[in-house]
Amino acid sequence: MATVGFVGLGQMGAAMAANLIKGGHTLNVYDINKDAVAALQGQGAKACGSPAETAEGAEFVITMLPNGALVRNVLLGEDGVVSRLSKDALVIDMSTIHPLETDALIADLAKDGYQMMEAPVGRTSDHAIAGTLLILAGGTKEQIAKAQPLFDLMGSDTVDAGGPGKGIRVKIINNYMSIALNVLSAEAIALAEKIGLDFDTAMSVMGGTPAGKGHFTTTWPNKVLAGNLDPAFMVDLAHKDLGIALDLANQVGVPIPMGAASREIYNISRTAGRGRQDWTAVLEQLRELSGLETKAK
Ligand code: NAD
Repeated sequence: MATVGFVGLGQMGAAMAANLIKGGHTLNVYDINKDAVAALQGQGAKACGSPAETAEGAEFVITMLPNGALVRNVLLGEDGVVSRLSKDALVIDMSTIHPLETDALIADLAKDGYQMMEAPVGRTSDHAIAGTLLILAGGTKEQIAKAQPLFDLMGSDTVDAGGPGKGIRVKIINNYMSIALNVLSAEAIALAEKIGLDFDTAMSVMGGTPAGKGHFTTTWPNKVLAGNLDPAFMVDLAHKDLGIALDLANQVGVPIPMGAASREIYNISRTAGRGRQDWTAVLEQLRELSGLETKAK
């Protein structure tokens, strides 16, 4: 069993720290919110007066904070973790922060011989309580193996994201997609309701098509991912249908900005000569616009 420093005892951190205690580890905890510290103390943790104190005798120090500036300050600021950190200890930032800030923190700690990895989490505070988080580990194989017993107490699945800094990258990309999709889904339902569609009918139709299921497992595998852009449903037709929905939304007064923005990608794809390609060709169009190599012909 290890001694673990834990800084940031909010919605997520408090539950994660509690699960480490239940797993038999010794916890040194700190938060600017004294009530949060007292609650963990009641569960057997040692209350600390600074981030530095959490690092005393610790094999691991975990941070679970709102943003990158706070993580930097807690690690490297006055009375920060590093001032009392052992060079054998492993710092694990589990917050969701900017990936370039993660890279800079790992590099700044490494300059002085300290070890840090990141392991942001997927799912919600209910999963933090249940110990069933999705852990997106970014670190060396050795770092991930060392931290695995802790991850197993806080989560039910650990993904080795492929090296230092990759965990936070996959977290941000995942959140980008699900957060944007949330708005697109809401646009569709608001438009459906405004034109008088029955809610359950709309949900059940869209729940059975790429609209609700997403494209990764439906339209992409046999088309763009297989290098096949022969049209099952062509870009020109997708552009036409999207145009009808945009026009309808305009007439009935429903804002659908995600739809309006996506039409420009279909416009660009058509201008680039992709009108008669499969609609999954928008992936290739985006790759091209991003200076990436295209994979399907
Ligand atoms: P939260 O605001 O509930 O908790 C943050 C904690 O950090 C608070 O207790 C706060 O007092 C403490 N804190 C702030 N500044 C501090 C400092 N300088 N020193 C010590 N403690 C300090 O937030 P949360 O929901 O627990 O989220 C934490 C991180 O986890 C965020 O990066 C968030 O994006 C990420 N996350 C949250 C969820 C979720 O469902 N809530 C899911 C996945 C990831």
